[in-house]
Amino acid sequence: MNSCPVCGYDGLNAPPFDEEGNPSYDICNCCGYEFGFDEENFDEYRLKWLTSGTKWFNPKVQPKDWIASEQLLKIGVRLDIPDA
Ligand SMILES: [Zn+2]
Repeated sequence: MNSCPVCGYDGLNAPPFDEEGNPSYDICNCCGYEFGFDEENFDEYRLKWLTSGTKWFNPKVQPKDWIASEQLLKIGVRLDIPDA
């Protein structure tokens, strides 16, 4: 399982960065962060994603009973705002 450090989604195809720190250039299906391309740091990007309604980059793979706050807890991020 490869978790996204932005949103906590654990379905990334590859680890975001390898042992040498090289990015995967993978795009997270959930938050849409592209490792190696997006220049915002994870916290900035996460905030933008949260304030824009936690939309899935690839809605086809979104689980039916998905809850943003529960997924974020897996990477230790606790939301102060209620779920949309
Ligand atoms: Zn993500």
